[in-house]
Amino acid sequence: MATKSTTAAKASAAAKASAARAGSAAKAAAGKAGQALKAAQAARAAQATRTNTGAGGSADYDAIVVGGGHNGLVAAAYLARSGARTLVLEARPKTGGAATTEAPWPDAPDFRVTRLSYVMSLLPPSIINDLQLTKHGYKIFPMGPYYQAFPEGGSIKLYADDAKRNHAEVSKWSKKDADAMPRWDAWLAGLADVLGPLLLTVPPNLGSRKPRDLEQTLRLAWRHRGLDVRTIADVTRLMTMSIADLLDDWFESPQVKGALAVNGVIGTWAGPYEPGTAYVMAHHSIGDVGDGHLGNWGFQEGGMGAVADAIAAAARHNGAEIRISAPVSKLIVTYGRASGVELENGQQITAKVVVTSLHPRTAFLDHVGRANLPDDFVTDIEHWKTRSGVVKINLALSELPDFTADPGTNLQEHHTGSVEMAPTMPYIERAFIDAREGRPATRPFSDGVIPTAFDKTLVPEGYHMMSLFTQWVPSDWNEAPHTEELQAYADRMIDCYNEVAPNFKSSIIHADIVGPYQMEHEYGLVGGNIFHGELSLEQLFHMRPAPGFADYRTPVPGLYYASSATHAGGGVCGIPGMQAARAAIADRRAARKTPRRG
Ligand SMILES: Cc1cc2nc3c(=O)[nH]c(=O)nc-3n(C[C@H](O)[C@H](O)[C@H](O)COP(=O)(O)OP(=O)(O)OC[C@H]3O[C@@H](n4cnc5c(N)ncnc54)[C@H](O)[C@@H]3O)c2cc1C
Repeated sequence: MATKSTTAAKASAAAKASAARAGSAAKAAAGKAGQALKAAQAARAAQATRTNTGAGGSADYDAIVVGGGHNGLVAAAYLARSGARTLVLEARPKTGGAATTEAPWPDAPDFRVTRLSYVMSLLPPSIINDLQLTKHGYKIFPMGPYYQAFPEGGSIKLYADDAKRNHAEVSKWSKKDADAMPRWDAWLAGLADVLGPLLLTVPPNLGSRKPRDLEQTLRLAWRHRGLDVRTIADVTRLMTMSIADLLDDWFESPQVKGALAVNGVIGTWAGPYEPGTAYVMAHHSIGDVGDGHLGNWGFQEGGMGAVADAIAAAARHNGAEIRISAPVSKLIVTYGRASGVELENGQQITAKVVVTSLHPRTAFLDHVGRANLPDDFVTDIEHWKTRSGVVKINLALSELPDFTADPGTNLQEHHTGSVEMAPTMPYIERAFIDAREGRPATRPFSDGVIPTAFDKTLVPEGYHMMSLFTQWVPSDWNEAPHTEELQAYADRMIDCYNEVAPNFKSSIIHADIVGPYQMEHEYGLVGGNIFHGELSLEQLFHMRPAPGFADYRTPVPGLYYASSATHAGGGVCGIPGMQAARAAIADRRAARKTPRRG
């Protein structure tokens, strides 16, 4: 079967990419002039801070949010709720960013897919409640079990909350592993309880001797004073080990290890044998961020775009204005302080506060400009790692997959959760090695889901939509469309599923293939990284997006940062948006209280 790719190669994209590269060369040229400018700006910054943050300024808006992805919308909703006149500027003709539901086939407009992100897991109850998202359409169907049918025969199902059934399932492959499973679940839950609340913690500025930073560091240490030697050792292991080494310590069966390894490599430019992948697995396993238990993984009715729509509705309800097809080309910095933005059409809009939610390279290097930023910060952003090698394949199906191991095209439990193609760790590792050596994986791995098992709003009655989150293609495939090779890659991925469900290929009526180039040029995901930057150890917590600036503030006063490239980001969790808005609101209140001199 030949799948049909809708991957669009935009002509302007190459020009944009080369402009970004030219920007890098321009840094050197900016050199001394930039330093002088910075000194002058710094000298005037304090004055500007006083005049621009006062309640009675003449700016067009109190706050502008650049980017109408879910984080930008969350920031806008909170800012508007605080009473700020807030404007969201989104480049695309629709909001949502990577949380988007689209109809990619012009000849089949009734078929909608959750085009990039596909499951909810980390949106905290506090945000859902603060923004009354349920009232605005947030509705989650909890996912069914993890399911893998093996090419050599047989299958495994793993349940999020049913130890008894897990024991029976794992016993099919190893009695020893079945007995180890409850201990593993308890171990992981214990660590998630430690790591979860950290997601809502504003990272302290480690190493700084400023009183406020020292106080925050001490507060964090005090909060964790109860941790014992054993727990700290376990956290250290989790942060530094590969998921493969960790699972080898616990389990013996390749099938069970394959099932548990997937979360360690989702969206990651690293195979399961790379250090740090154990943490990625934990990031996806956190069940409570400290303000209530998160729902199990689930599907939003209407696809992930409906999550963004609910947040947009909340923002509008609170008074925010949202403008689409309004690409921002630069941030205006006046006397060292953010004072507004310029759109691609040349229009300038001023505001007392600007929040940007774009990828760090775009937000800082392209929009703020190197001359307005400290050299160390510029270097950190230039070194930001932003690869994934992810390809999203969305399929419209005429019937459900009929697995040899669990026959039938009628809806069954194994269709309702993740329908995986990641049978063993060596299988996953092979896919990564192919890509690291510069070839698309011969046998890619896939985290598949069929949301239409629950959601009847996406496709016409009797049909299904299947979303395959697949890895890997080479990390430089963001530089060119690779249309034909992506097509061949998708066909191989489909063949892998066809080996375990022989009706699969013939059931596909439409296919939509979104590779790294399209992710970068159509959605602004530079490098094709799904989280605006890798979740690697050197880019976590106080290092995200750069040391000294993990508190959602930036080197430019009045500019706040709300993208997934900040702490907790990576996923549709809204935490960066909420934290950036909180920082802006707190600073604005503090500035109002500061008595004016002179
Ligand atoms: C293939 C894929 C699968 C994923 N799967 C999941 C998943 O299942 N679950 C999960 O939780 N997370 C998943 N993620 C990650 C998650 O979707 C992202 O981390 C999250 O959506 C990012 O949100 P954001 O608001 O920070 O940024 P974005 O969604 O990237 O939003 C940024 C917005 O800024 C806009 N913009 C860009 N440039 C400009 C400009 N110059 N002017 C104005 N606006 C501009 C963009 O159009 C975009 O709307 C996935 C991501 C991808 C790509």
